[in-house]
Amino acid sequence: MPDEARAHAAHSVRVPIHLGRNADPALSFTAEDLQIAGISAMSSVDWPGKLVATVFCQGCPWACPYCHNHAIIDPRIPGVVAWSSVTALMERRHGLLDGVVFSGGEATRQWALIPAMRQIREMGFEVGLHTAGPYPARLARLLDEGLVDWVGLDIKALPGPSYEAIAGRQGAGEKAWEALSILMSHPEVAHEVRLTLDPSLAGEALEIARRCKDVGVRRFALQEVRLQGVRDTYANAYEASARSAVSFPSAASCGALGRGEVEGMVGRDAADLAGRVAAGTSSTGGPGATVAWADQLSALARDIGALGFEAYELRRA
Ligand code: SF4
Repeated sequence: MPDEARAHAAHSVRVPIHLGRNADPALSFTAEDLQIAGISAMSSVDWPGKLVATVFCQGCPWACPYCHNHAIIDPRIPGVVAWSSVTALMERRHGLLDGVVFSGGEATRQWALIPAMRQIREMGFEVGLHTAGPYPARLARLLDEGLVDWVGLDIKALPGPSYEAIAGRQGAGEKAWEALSILMSHPEVAHEVRLTLDPSLAGEALEIARRCKDVGVRRFALQEVRLQGVRDTYANAYEASARSAVSFPSAASCGALGRGEVEGMVGRDAADLAGRVAAGTSSTGGPGATVAWADQLSALARDIGALGFEAYELRRA
């Protein structure tokens, strides 16, 4: 959470108005109910190409080990920034900022996001959203109502066990990939799909990117895990493995797998690396050795680039 967030006054949690059983839950909340953990008053990176304020919403249903916002993922903790601080900031930034990005935590967790987005729209600003997609129906509603101009969607793994291992929740992958499919059904909404590359994912990263391309993703970013703000246990484990040499499918079995099998898993460049390892010319050793993380990342970056996204970026830590 940005330091400046703490400079804002804490506010009490309003008790939402409860309507009948079949009532729209969003009607029970106002923008003032949004639980906000912090604000970044100006960012040029949270929405590529735009200058925005970023609102960090409190709480997330998932528990990714590499989360660098883990201090704000507990949904039981109330926000510390009043919504009026956001609107007051935006009033002062007319002509200077393009819009607001709602980030987290997981912004779509809160129904109050809907009236909050409406209000930002009414103030004449654009609206962006960072989401990991745990609530696909809510994302659909935001898009159907035309409340969002741009979505940065995290896709963390292939659906199934590896997704659940990262997000820490059953069915997480199915929800996130459904969210992607909903996003793709709204071509009027600009997007960027981001994959955070945890070392355990190196073997499936290219396939994740390929599937994203197949369903129509136009902008894709591969992000190296940032260790700033992550739990010490994760940082230590990461440093111990990824920064030295890890067991990457192409590398772990360089001596055992045929070149074609390696290519099938991680692509042309990784196969070149595998060849170099097998020949004893890689930076990390001879036959059967592992391939250095930096080499793996470079190979993946090139292979994903070759998929032909309209826009593609490798974000180093
Ligand atoms: S989905 Fe995002 S905010 Fe939630 S735990 Fe994972 S990385 Fe953190």
